[in-house]
Amino acid sequence: MTTTTSAETPTPPRVLLTHHLRQLKLPTVLREYEKVAAEAARDGQDHIRYLLRLVELELIDRERRTVERRIRAARFPAVKSFDTFDFTAIPSLNKPLTLELARCEYVVARDNIIALGNSGTGKTHVALALGLAACQRGFSVVFTTAAALVHQLMEARDEKRLLRLQAQLDAAKLLIVDELGYVPLSQTGAELLFEVFSRRHERGSTIVTSNLPFDEWTSVFGNQRLTGALLDRLTHHVHILEMNGESYRLKQSKVRRRKEAASSEEPVVDHETGEISPA
Ligand code: ADP
Ligand code: MG
Repeated sequence: MTTTTSAETPTPPRVLLTHHLRQLKLPTVLREYEKVAAEAARDGQDHIRYLLRLVELELIDRERRTVERRIRAARFPAVKSFDTFDFTAIPSLNKPLTLELARCEYVVARDNIIALGNSGTGKTHVALALGLAACQRGFSVVFTTAAALVHQLMEARDEKRLLRLQAQLDAAKLLIVDELGYVPLSQTGAELLFEVFSRRHERGSTIVTSNLPFDEWTSVFGNQRLTGALLDRLTHHVHILEMNGESYRLKQSKVRRRKEAASSEEPVVDHETGEISPA
């Protein structure tokens, strides 16, 4: 690299500094160095403190960028956290256990989590919040539904890239498989999914959510022996989240309709439940 534009005119130091900081990939130092320099001059800070402040800012930003990258790589359908989760709406869910799990020690221990309950009780929300917590704590996460994962596996097998997909799935510290049980699987689909869980056993954590109690899992996998072997692996080191209760969505829409009814003269019909609230 030339440090001068010509023999007579040396490149101004700011231009050089900008160039070097870009090459070193220090965007925060580049953005902040003048402002922080002015602050350091105002507060009478020495060069070491000035440099320390800049490096700290770069580190904080870099960590934030890494977390954002992990969140994008996880392919969450939505970003949800426990901040927006109302535990009082689902009394069957063990709140202390759930919040303990949000600290992600189970990922280090390679334990699994299974959330079971009827539709609309917040299983996906909890799985997303646990996934987000794992990203924030430095773990790689992959989020998928059982149906999408089976589809991907079958497609990869047909295109002779199953090993590559399996390696990608193996590499995730946490694999979240949402909605196991909504669709029954073909025999090949069940076997491929079994292989994913089997490969992860004691090597990485898996979260599974399902609307079906364990004794009905055979109806998804269509094979008692396979289901038994799968449950054996998944439940070896597992934390179970019981999430049976009233659908949150349904409850919210009832509350909304009751409010609407209170403010109107007409009786209001709930289109989801057929319930009629008097004016
Ligand atoms: P499930 O996966 O059990 O069918 P979801 O997680 O999809 O349920 O929940 C349905 C909707 O209701 C989502 O928008 C979710 O964010 C919201 N929800 C469910 N339970 C709660 C809760 N306890 N607090 C806040 N939002 C909730
Ligand atoms: Mg769900």
